[in-house]
Amino acid sequence: MKITLVRRVVQVLMLVLFCLPPLLAGWGLAGLYAGGDGEVATPAEGVFFGSLSASSLGPVPLFDPLAALELLAANGGAAMAALAGAGTVALVYALVRARAFCGWVCPVNLIGEGVDAARRRLGIAVPERVLDRRMKIGAAVAVVAASALVGFPVFETVSPIGAVSKGLVFGGFAGAGTLVAIVIAELFVSRRVWCRTLCPLGGLFQVLGRAGQVNVHINHDACVHCGRCEEACLADPVILAPALSGDDIIVRAGDCMACGACVDTCPARALSFSLGRLPARAQTRREERDPVSES
Ligand code: SF4
Ligand code: SF4
Repeated sequence: MKITLVRRVVQVLMLVLFCLPPLLAGWGLAGLYAGGDGEVATPAEGVFFGSLSASSLGPVPLFDPLAALELLAANGGAAMAALAGAGTVALVYALVRARAFCGWVCPVNLIGEGVDAARRRLGIAVPERVLDRRMKIGAAVAVVAASALVGFPVFETVSPIGAVSKGLVFGGFAGAGTLVAIVIAELFVSRRVWCRTLCPLGGLFQVLGRAGQVNVHINHDACVHCGRCEEACLADPVILAPALSGDDIIVRAGDCMACGACVDTCPARALSFSLGRLPARAQTRREERDPVSES
């Protein structure tokens, strides 16, 4: 529960980070209209401003990597500034664990976790998985290709990811409809179907995630094979299989969000986070345990 608690705090702080600048500016303007005569800073003049699609941290531009690829496909050279901002974001996430964005930052995942908890409480049973998790990589390719065809960033016009913060900053709630559809699908069709199998940004981060240096590590001697980590996994239970079977010592799949739900739930404390890409397979461990059969 400890990691999940910290993650919940971070998720809420991220929402506040994106929503606060425009709200603060709104309060300032309200004070001006009410009779104040001081200078009012616009949100863009603050240290941090923007949405999850595009923002700035001081002089550093930050850009959603999928949005940048869509812009590139749609507008060619006009997207160069966006690509620079996207490169910074992609590099940081890829080095840590790309889908940590999904687990720790994205508000859709926060809503999805809430829907998951509500569905369980209401006793609504849905399948764990109706689509393959790799479908979202195809979704990423499809939205970039579609952007090239129609000449504008297709997913950005319906993306639920920045719906709340973009609504507060720019006054439009284009992704709200997608968000409602996701809630209905996750309540009645399949558990966490958007984040696991459909989100194109999740698909791009799934590919980058293979380079992640923050990994779930398993102590095979401690594991009692209760399966609780698989039940808890926010990404997809199958990504734990190589580690649980003894074939690997870390969860290597790019889909892992480093959410820590499995670490928190393990009754045997067999799981922990480790840094660096440890050797690919637990082959040496099996050789030590069973030298005859391995030779
Ligand atoms: S929850 Fe822990 S003990 Fe249970 S299967 Fe997973 S790693 Fe093994
Ligand atoms: S393997 Fe563990 S840390 Fe990774 S997504 Fe699943 S529950 Fe989260």
